[in-house]
Amino acid sequence: MATDPLQKTTSPAAATDAPADLVRFDRVVKRFGDHVVLDRLDFSVQRGEHVTLIGPSGSGKTTILRLLMTLERVSDGVIWVNGEPLSHMRGADGNLKPANEKHLREVRRKIGMVFQQFNLFPNMKVLQNITEAPVNVLGLGREEAEERARELLDLVGLSDKVDAHPSQLSGGQQQRVAIARALAMRPEILLLDEVTSALDPELVAGVLDLLREIAHTTDITMLVVTHEMNFARDISDQVLMFDSGRIIESGSPEKIFSDPEQDRTREFLSAVL
Ligand code: ADP
Repeated sequence: MATDPLQKTTSPAAATDAPADLVRFDRVVKRFGDHVVLDRLDFSVQRGEHVTLIGPSGSGKTTILRLLMTLERVSDGVIWVNGEPLSHMRGADGNLKPANEKHLREVRRKIGMVFQQFNLFPNMKVLQNITEAPVNVLGLGREEAEERARELLDLVGLSDKVDAHPSQLSGGQQQRVAIARALAMRPEILLLDEVTSALDPELVAGVLDLLREIAHTTDITMLVVTHEMNFARDISDQVLMFDSGRIIESGSPEKIFSDPEQDRTREFLSAVL
């Protein structure tokens, strides 16, 4: 069925049968005003897969993560997570209708996001930054949440910073806390949005090494927006190359980085590598 990208109502033009993929974007359109940022986007991610989104600035990569995190709503099409519509919910008649807040809160729990600018709570100590959501959203007891937070701080190498405030930490340390905070919610899907872009150059490698370790030692599904191509090559199962809100090429990191088919991909890679 054709979709009119300028159509004003939100209606699922895409299929309504639940897919088997962990994440599926099904003809997803995102507009800001008249600006079509994502144009009938289709892609899927399997459980445990690490998918990297690359492409020029403004091509829609961050918008994809924000849609998954329910920080934005689709203009058209359907996003599926684990066989459940995320952007929509099923009505009593079995048809899809736009999701309400309660539905969004429930599906959002399965998804963790780490942002470029860390976004820690400045007035809370490190430990509380990590325990806040598990206690208030998941309903974990404070003791259990703190035990888990200490394990995660150990994992990210910051056991000695439990009582520090974010302003007392370097950018790299703040980003490690943000990663621990996302993991504390035991997400099925971890979204990483240019997480090293705001860091001083000497702090980048440490954060990328931590993320490599998480990618290689956990079964968390990851969607990663990054300009760090060596990192993308190391962790990705699948690379999606974006241009102007469309995937112009996709495949294994070997294929995309060593033998791309599209001139646009070659041009982009030669500018960033
Ligand atoms: P990328 O992550 O690839 O750099 P983005 O997803 O951030 O791209 O942005 C894609 C396009 O959407 C850009 O042209 C950007 O200006 C526009 N955009 C993103 N968010 C908004 C917003 N809240 N309002 C208006 N335009 C937006």
